[in-house]
Amino acid sequence: MADYFTDFMEKLKARNQAQPKFIQAAEEVVGSLIPVLDKHPKYKKAAIMERIVEPERVIMFRVPWEDDKGGYHVNRGFRIEMNSAIGPYKGGLRFHPTVDLGTLKFLAFEQVFKNALTTLPMGGGKGGSDFDPKGKSDAEVMRFCQSFMSELFRHIGPNTDIPAGDIGVGGREIGYMFGMYKKLRNEFTGILTGKGLNWGGSLIRPEATGYGAVYFASEMLETRGETLKDKTALVSASGNVAQYTCEKLLDLGAKPVTLSDSSGYIYDEEGIDREKLAFVMELKNLKRGRIKEYAEKYPKAVYTAVDKKLDYNPLWAHKADTAFPSATENEINAKDAKSLVDNGCYVVSEGANMPTTTEGVKIFLDAGILYGPGKAANAGGVAVSGLEMTQNSLRYGWSREEVDRKLNDIMKSIHRQCHETAAEYGTPGNYVNGANIAGFIKVADTMIDLGLVA
Ligand code: NDP
Repeated sequence: MADYFTDFMEKLKARNQAQPKFIQAAEEVVGSLIPVLDKHPKYKKAAIMERIVEPERVIMFRVPWEDDKGGYHVNRGFRIEMNSAIGPYKGGLRFHPTVDLGTLKFLAFEQVFKNALTTLPMGGGKGGSDFDPKGKSDAEVMRFCQSFMSELFRHIGPNTDIPAGDIGVGGREIGYMFGMYKKLRNEFTGILTGKGLNWGGSLIRPEATGYGAVYFASEMLETRGETLKDKTALVSASGNVAQYTCEKLLDLGAKPVTLSDSSGYIYDEEGIDREKLAFVMELKNLKRGRIKEYAEKYPKAVYTAVDKKLDYNPLWAHKADTAFPSATENEINAKDAKSLVDNGCYVVSEGANMPTTTEGVKIFLDAGILYGPGKAANAGGVAVSGLEMTQNSLRYGWSREEVDRKLNDIMKSIHRQCHETAAEYGTPGNYVNGANIAGFIKVADTMIDLGLVA
């Protein structure tokens, strides 16, 4: 079987040469699956591996838009419809200058396994654009979103593909895209999730990814008879996931001490309390300011600007019990992982997608810390998106408490599946193997049930 995997990875690398993040994501999953294919030859016979790494469909399109001064611009739009075996394609849209085909393929691939773990019937997809909303006026963002949706609308639908938000796509962008879809189709359907409450959104959806990552950390700690109370926490980023990670950490008695953005990070030894978090939310969500302003408002906090010459991120070198990476892929390299472990951090719950490099993951696993990979730990976001779809179909809205309870139950179930599957395949406590194997088996069995259609 080892030969089969070596050969498989060689072919995958040769066919996807300019897509290192996709290869990284695929290699991690493939590494977990060796014992599964050994035990169940049916997956090899049905060529599930070869099929699961190929998107069912890739849509790429031109997005022209006009700035406030009358200048014309062109960005690229994408939607990767990766796998629809267990439900319609589901996954976010990312607007960031680093977006390219390989990045979105990695995200769509991860999404397939993540969505399978949620227990809800959702396939995997991802999309977005290399458009950068930062520094653009509301009117420019609106014109871009309208242009983007004027092509995307013909490929998606409430039973086909239901996008959501991701980096650079929050409530404002979802609103402009939903408005354009509604106008073009002349119908009011739950075509996007992360909608505003007045127009079909779900309570707790903005909170879901961050809350879920903290619930997952609590579940991991419970396996050692511990809780998050009085634990210090390093949190990166200051966007949607980071903000609600902090909020839930505070609810559970933990002490977040860092936040960041792409310009630098703040360290607040006294802890980021509710008042300070409210300041960050206003700064980031309304004023669209920089995290540096936190240290201007609270002078006891220390701001450190990004130093591109460093080969590590000093945020991860602070002493803490827990870490919640919530920015972007590969933000924790081997050096950072080693700093975390050496400084006593023994819980890492990934709010971001693939924030730890392959070498960093190995350091966490070798150290035997509680390490929750993104496709399990951050699945709360898409899970509540699934609950938003259910509420839209019912034309009914559940209360905040009801959705939060369902989210907590789903995170417990994801943790249980990962924990049990890791033990079943001989690697107890390895949540990477647990998540990859449990997600794979559900999708692979369904692909076999449905025949050779994709
Ligand atoms: P937001 O756009 O709300 O926030 C992104 C944050 O990350 C900002 O603070 C941003 O800083 C920082 N950031 C982004 N890219 C970089 C970079 N290249 N280097 C340093 N900092 C960066 O996004 P979200 O909070 O929604 O997403 C964060 C992560 O969580 C992503 O990996 C996303 O895929 C993942 N995720 C999100 C879900 C959701 O429901 N939103 C669901 C599951 C996963 P700056 O403003 O300076 O760019």
